[in-house]
Amino acid sequence: MEKIKTLINEEKLNNRIEELAMQIYNDFGDEETVLVCILKGATYFTIDLSKKIKSNNVILDFIKISSYGVGNRETTGHIDFKLGISENIEDKNVIIVEDIVDSGKTMKYLIEYIKTKKPKTVKTCALLDKPSRRTEDITIDYVGFTVENLFVVGYGMDYDEKYRNLPYIGYIE
Ligand code: 5GP
Repeated sequence: MEKIKTLINEEKLNNRIEELAMQIYNDFGDEETVLVCILKGATYFTIDLSKKIKSNNVILDFIKISSYGVGNRETTGHIDFKLGISENIEDKNVIIVEDIVDSGKTMKYLIEYIKTKKPKTVKTCALLDKPSRRTEDITIDYVGFTVENLFVVGYGMDYDEKYRNLPYIGYIE
């Protein structure tokens, strides 16, 4: 069993997600906005974020890819597509919602993929950002927290499929 230390507690998570939701509502108002959740890591974040956006025009969609090997802490750069979006997003506002941006390879790939569907706008949102590890030149429009180079788990994020159900964000010592 790994030893997990708390990095961001539930109260801090909730407060920051509330702020991000307000920022998104200020930017898009009641215009149709598609939140594209990247499975599985961004599920808890996307659901909580969507509940806090005070608009009746939010649509959810899901993408499943895998860029991490089982039990592997480094991204391989090779992205395996498992499930594409199901909604027609042409001429719509799209926000790609990720758990964490590390090298930026996954987000870069997702932005290009979403752009092929001809949306009106594409924005990016990540609960966590690890800028010290970035190799790709990408913009994250909505960032929850900037974190050090730690391996984080919880609130959707796993280590070997475990710890997703932790209600807070921790790191493996
Ligand atoms: P990138 O392509 O930006 O290097 O990696 C992004 C993906 O790697 C994230 O969606 C996430 O699945 C995974 N990842 C990166 N850093 C961490 C981390 O500290 N903990 C966990 N659980 N996954 C991470």
